[in-house]
Amino acid sequence: MSATHCPYCSLQCAMSVTPAATSDAVPQVSPLDFPTNRGGLCQKGWTSASVLRASDRLTTPLVRSAAGELVPSTWDAALDVIETRIRRIWAERGREAVAVFGGGGLTNEKAYTLGKFTRLALGTPYIDYNGRFCMSSAAAAGNLAFGLDRGLPFPLADLGGAQAILLVGSNLSETMPPAVQHLEGVRSRGGLVVVDPRRTPTAALTDDGAGIHVQPLPGTDLTVLLGLLHLVLARGAVDHAYLVDRVAGFEEVARSVSLWWPERVERETGVPVATLRAVASTLIAASPAHGGSGAYVLTGRGAEQHAHGTDTVTAAINLALALGLPGRRGSGYGCLTGQGNGQGGREHGQKADQLPGYRSIADPAARAHVASVWGVDPDVIPGPGVPAMQLFARLAEPDGVRALFVHGSNVVVSAPDSADLATRLAALDLLVVCDFVPSETALLADVVLPVTQWAEEEGTMTSVEGRVLRRRAAVAAPAGVRSELDVWSELARRLDCPVPLATDPRAVMDELRRASAGGVADYAGISYDRLDAGEALYWPCPSDEHPGTPRVFLDRFAHDDGKAVMRVVSPAPVADDLRRDAPLFLITGRVLQHYQSGAQTRRVPDLVRAAPRGFVQIHPQTAARLGIEEGNPVRVTSARGSCTAPARLSGEVRLDTVFMPFHHPGAETANLVTNPATDPISGMPEFKVCAVSVSSHEG
Ligand code: SF4
Repeated sequence: MSATHCPYCSLQCAMSVTPAATSDAVPQVSPLDFPTNRGGLCQKGWTSASVLRASDRLTTPLVRSAAGELVPSTWDAALDVIETRIRRIWAERGREAVAVFGGGGLTNEKAYTLGKFTRLALGTPYIDYNGRFCMSSAAAAGNLAFGLDRGLPFPLADLGGAQAILLVGSNLSETMPPAVQHLEGVRSRGGLVVVDPRRTPTAALTDDGAGIHVQPLPGTDLTVLLGLLHLVLARGAVDHAYLVDRVAGFEEVARSVSLWWPERVERETGVPVATLRAVASTLIAASPAHGGSGAYVLTGRGAEQHAHGTDTVTAAINLALALGLPGRRGSGYGCLTGQGNGQGGREHGQKADQLPGYRSIADPAARAHVASVWGVDPDVIPGPGVPAMQLFARLAEPDGVRALFVHGSNVVVSAPDSADLATRLAALDLLVVCDFVPSETALLADVVLPVTQWAEEEGTMTSVEGRVLRRRAAVAAPAGVRSELDVWSELARRLDCPVPLATDPRAVMDELRRASAGGVADYAGISYDRLDAGEALYWPCPSDEHPGTPRVFLDRFAHDDGKAVMRVVSPAPVADDLRRDAPLFLITGRVLQHYQSGAQTRRVPDLVRAAPRGFVQIHPQTAARLGIEEGNPVRVTSARGSCTAPARLSGEVRLDTVFMPFHHPGAETANLVTNPATDPISGMPEFKVCAVSVSSHEG
């Protein structure tokens, strides 16, 4: 039996994994008591060991034949193909014709090594990862406001004492159910406010006096937040002493929201004035400046996955700062990161503009430090790359990227406008996918490399609250499978990388600690030995003696002057707004049983039985108007394309909105329809809203 953590979301619930009596049987998972999950697991966690024994588990490399089929190969032959083609592409088109796409589920050790492999072995600036699609806008807003981005800058359990929580765009009842325990306190105090265009299970937690559900028009969260700040100002309820002491930019922001009076906000968002006033009252009463016991503002993907996601999160942070919440014990702002290592994944160098330690790759001092750890000249490290959607736009272009490595991501299902991306992937000179199952993206590859997965590997993950956790091997990997650390090391050797890459996770972690030392995300004091001894280590943790930092910002924010910065933001229209031929909004999200692209959870029999297919959730009145009945096949069409799925009639959605989960492949792929327009600051695509037509679809 090994103590480890769930392979899926950023809550990183603690569990034990016990091998079965025979190697082909499913290991047993049991929950462990831990501050985030308190002995709970969701259905995904309970069944997570099934993926270890997936019937189509990849155990041998696959190489596409001249006839176009993926056929089994030896490791040597598969790596020969990669080496030969990369060298040819380099000779014909240069180093920048090769790119890498990583994932927020990779361990810290893998995320670190993938960045190093890309910059040193491949010599290309072009690396980015699927965290760009997850919380990049919140990360950008956090960096701008606080000078540091740590999803939750406080332990999750702190929420238990809150008098009010404003939850904007998060359906944690389905995405991370054990976290709901931390809302029980605020519900009992009547202070839970959920902003969501859908009446999700999380929104339903506000029933019976537990709080308020705010159900705005999709794409108008920012306006709602401006309206709330307007009301706080109008009531003279800002925390003046805190603002003078700890915040810059308040006066400009205060002036900018003067025009967002409640009636105007109601007109633009559909949220009644009375609701806005009630929410403002709840937050004001809970804020420490008014004698409350504390309030939190939290954002999730619903607020963040927009072409103006950074501004929306900034509006949430502005509201929190005006109330004097961030950097105060018992109050704060936080982002509920989604992927298992969504936090660590963005700290160690697989993001286009970053080096380990959450350092800027454009900063000469950062480059010199990391180069010294890597044992290379700083000039060897390429400059910044480009965010994911710009990277994708270069794929298969004549002078663009001709070869792509994909790790820990199933972009054919998870990226917006996915048909265009699939076409580009298929046209590459070389697509290499490392995975443990034949995902939809792997099936397009020229070379598929079978790799280890969670309970087969050692490493660390950094959870939603910035706490570094040990992932431990509990079962042996199948014969024929290798760790990605081995793959990158071997490829680096073949491609004449100037330095060897370590393959032992502990050795990688020790190097990561040195590379991150002195950076914003400082892991220098976080070792396997300390974690194995049971220490709860949150970054920054700059030395072996340092206890870690569960709550950042208590004394100062991370900007040079120690102050947080408020920034003027204003609403912008949805990038793909309603029109005569597309009169409904599509919003996308997750369901309880599935995780991200579903590449793992769609292989778990219990989960497939419970949620076998995608669906189009549509209001009964809208369905009646369109002649659609429960279960009818429905076609959803946008300017990008169409997808089809059975209708599910429900009053949970607005009359002007339909909802689809984004876990399902083929014709049910919701991302065939979503909009690739991106946030100019963070590169976040506008997953959460686009204009569609909906019709009955036969066939
Ligand atoms: Fe916990 Fe998330 Fe795993 Fe569910 S999916 S058990 S909430 S870590």
